[in-house]
Amino acid sequence: MVASWLLKDHFEKIMLLERQSKESFLQKHGFTFPIVFTPASIKILQRIGVWEEIKSERSEFFGVVIRKRLMGKEFKIVSAQEGVYSHWRNHIIAKLYERVVAANIDIHFNARVEDIDFARNECQEAALGTLPFDLLIGADGIYSFTRGLLAKAHPIFAEEDFSLTFLDEWYAYRLPARGALKEKFGGGDRFHAFNIFVDNLATAPATKFRIATTSMRQPSEKISILVKHEAGLGPQRLKELNDSYFGQFFDSMEELHAEWDAGVAGKFDQVKAPTFSLNSVLLLGDAAHGFESAGDLINMGITSTASFLEILDKHESIPEALRQYDETIGESLRFYADFSLRRSKESISFEVASIEFAARLGLANRHPSLFGIYQDDFEIQKYMRAYQRDILVGKLLAFSIPVALLFLKKFMRKRRE
Ligand SMILES: Cc1cc2nc3c(=O)[nH]c(=O)nc-3n(C[C@H](O)[C@H](O)[C@H](O)COP(=O)(O)OP(=O)(O)OC[C@H]3O[C@@H](n4cnc5c(N)ncnc54)[C@H](O)[C@@H]3O)c2cc1C
Repeated sequence: MVASWLLKDHFEKIMLLERQSKESFLQKHGFTFPIVFTPASIKILQRIGVWEEIKSERSEFFGVVIRKRLMGKEFKIVSAQEGVYSHWRNHIIAKLYERVVAANIDIHFNARVEDIDFARNECQEAALGTLPFDLLIGADGIYSFTRGLLAKAHPIFAEEDFSLTFLDEWYAYRLPARGALKEKFGGGDRFHAFNIFVDNLATAPATKFRIATTSMRQPSEKISILVKHEAGLGPQRLKELNDSYFGQFFDSMEELHAEWDAGVAGKFDQVKAPTFSLNSVLLLGDAAHGFESAGDLINMGITSTASFLEILDKHESIPEALRQYDETIGESLRFYADFSLRRSKESISFEVASIEFAARLGLANRHPSLFGIYQDDFEIQKYMRAYQRDILVGKLLAFSIPVALLFLKKFMRKRRE
């Protein structure tokens, strides 16, 4: 919807093909999850004229609180960030939908895209038949059908170069914000916070069972719970583990079970796509670079969509603009997705520590995973270039300290002699 609105004045006609029914696409009830926007995404939502509506339902989100249980005791590390808010995803979708309808952009619900002819620029849809296009954007999510067709048709890359890697499973549901629950999962005097509990089940400390909670205020107070857990636990064991942690906050387990049963299960996957374009077809959003979000994924999708528009404006030929986008923004997104994969595999501690140390000395930007993308002037390509440089600075700094200490030691010894 963001792409269609931004592109509406560039094309005679724009049509959105949405697989879901209108009711399911716009459902207000049932499960939804919180989304946090960065300043760069907010600027784009302001351009669309939807930000005021979106922010009418927002919850203050003062930062991240990481809680880790060590030797039976829970320790917390707080990392605060001013001026950040979370919004329920369904509300965002409903407001964007209103803007798209107001701009007279057609949405064809229950769409069944059957095929794309990448050479003739034609798309086959079950009810509408052959749809010729100048530009086709596949923004059809992490399990993108468009990406699958593009992988098959691509003359340079093999189909298996495009892949999806399973990372972890998750289960998400909501709890009422009251009493001890509100006290523990709210953000103290700032009221709202994002808490991450790292494998701290007293009954099963070795089990990977991470709880991320977001306290939401609007339209009513709720606590959103996302449990990221090791694969193959099974629904029964998962529920038992959840009971062992959240049961202490409930007088009746029936109430906790009713909330739990209204939740949804899902998987975190990582997309690998060596290119995001072929001729006049472009992949955007999760379809191109889906990864395990730490509050950053949707923002990468929105900001890169606006970057695409800037590139399109500078080109006469659409395939040429797509190629240019892929070689610049696309490369940066793939670099960021690689970082995210390392983050999912928990192998970024050295990188984060060395860059944050360099940032303290004024030699680098803050690490992307620590509010880097929340900088006011965030622009993906510029930021990724700086990030690549910062990795080097961090490494140099980390390696130069032991070398400097060695020299110092030798120097001291010589002086003593
Ligand atoms: C539990 C969870 C929590 C998350 N939290 C955050 C967060 O806090 N911050 C953040 O930045 N990101 C978060 N994300 C990720 C975020 O939701 C995605 O980055 C974002 O929704 C991607 O937008 P998109 O438009 O690319 O794809 P989607 O939102 O997946 O939209 C794709 C659309 O395409 C439709 N579609 C799919 N296939 C077809 C087809 N064949 N034909 C027609 N239509 C089709 C789908 O029905 C859907 O409407 C989270 C994701 C999950 C699962």
